[in-house]
Amino acid sequence: AVTMEATRRRPQHSANGKRSEQKEQLAHFDKLLRNFQVFLYMCFPDITHKFIPGYVGGVQEGARTPAGLINKYEINGLQCWLITHALWFANAHYFHWFSPTIIFDNWIPLLWCANILGYAVSTFAFIKAHLFPTNAEDCKFTGNVFYNYMMGIEFNPRIGKWFDFKLFFNGRPGIVAWTLINLSYMAIYVLDFFWNEAWYLKTIDICHDHFGWYLGWGDCVWLPYLYTLQGLYLVYHPVQLSDAHALAVLLLGLVGYYIFRSTNHQKDLFRRTEGSCSIWGRKPTWIECTYRSADGGMHRSKLLTSGFWGVARHFNYTGDLMGSLAYCASCGFGHILPYFYIVYMTILLVHRCVRDEHRCSSKYGKDWKRYTDAVPSRLIPGVF
Ligand code: NDP
Repeated sequence: AVTMEATRRRPQHSANGKRSEQKEQLAHFDKLLRNFQVFLYMCFPDITHKFIPGYVGGVQEGARTPAGLINKYEINGLQCWLITHALWFANAHYFHWFSPTIIFDNWIPLLWCANILGYAVSTFAFIKAHLFPTNAEDCKFTGNVFYNYMMGIEFNPRIGKWFDFKLFFNGRPGIVAWTLINLSYMAIYVLDFFWNEAWYLKTIDICHDHFGWYLGWGDCVWLPYLYTLQGLYLVYHPVQLSDAHALAVLLLGLVGYYIFRSTNHQKDLFRRTEGSCSIWGRKPTWIECTYRSADGGMHRSKLLTSGFWGVARHFNYTGDLMGSLAYCASCGFGHILPYFYIVYMTILLVHRCVRDEHRCSSKYGKDWKRYTDAVPSRLIPGVF
């Protein structure tokens, strides 16, 4: 806001020169950010896991794909995030390559750049799936070209051995940009994402979704622009919350974050140790399941029925929604715009929940029915 005010006060004759200088700076910045993320992802194997206790990084295995393959991933998101942000601060304080308000000052032109990248990536993924797929057995052609483009054909498109489209575009540049755009606002959620990047290999995005427009454009445009709307709103409409309001928002956010993180952690721990762990101080309970992969192989799996997974079948979504509501409520009740995020997240996660359950039901058949009988609610016990 200060930069905008200063710009408004400057004499007209310097405006054109200033504008072309800004355009140049912007193009340079956009290229730098994206190429730099590819460089960090590809050229710097993770070393942070060697000295940060409890962090799982380096080469990790993903889940079994429908065709029966297990991919390896280089988990170095936390390292990339730390380097990017260290450089961001170094630029602001020492180097002055570009203005620290460059993203805010160029919100709309950057939106164009993000769209160009989003469509280029989705189109490339579509063409690649037809001409040179990474694993032809894992491609899904539905007969509807529009659907194929939107939802993706290839399951795990890669270039070379390590450049994985889903891990890269889902996590960077969109999620790195999230804190860059909105530096302090959602830092905990973002840091959590990178701290747990290895856990991310077992989520629906990586385990079940194909890579097309939905992820390609969504990660490049939708995520960085719409998830940060509250911050943008507050720049123009600063609010002074009452102590009670601020405390309620803080509590809602912390409780939501605790549920979100613990629920995801419980599943991850349970699956990693195959049930040899303790959940809420007790040995976990579960339902034993079998399923068949596309190569005809029979496999076994377990569905946890204790801890938060005994409360509801997607209590991690409930925690996420509580946190999302807290982000919005921190903007006060003056306008509907900052509430876009919670409305969108509710639609996204309810749809995701139904979609996931449909898939699990076809995967596990009668075992899934036993699980839904044991844990009848999806998101809110006794309500939904
Ligand atoms: P989950 O991590 O809940 O994964 C669902 C999968 O877990 C199922 O397909 C099944 O896979 C397995 N599963 C289901 N029930 C059980 C059980 N009882 N015990 C063990 N395994 C089980 O879902 P997501 O990947 O969608 O979400 C992960 C997190 O990311 C959530 O907290 C969500 O809120 C968050 N998220 C945030 C988004 C955002 O935009 N901010 C977007 C999407 C997600 P299997 O086939 O292996 O059995």
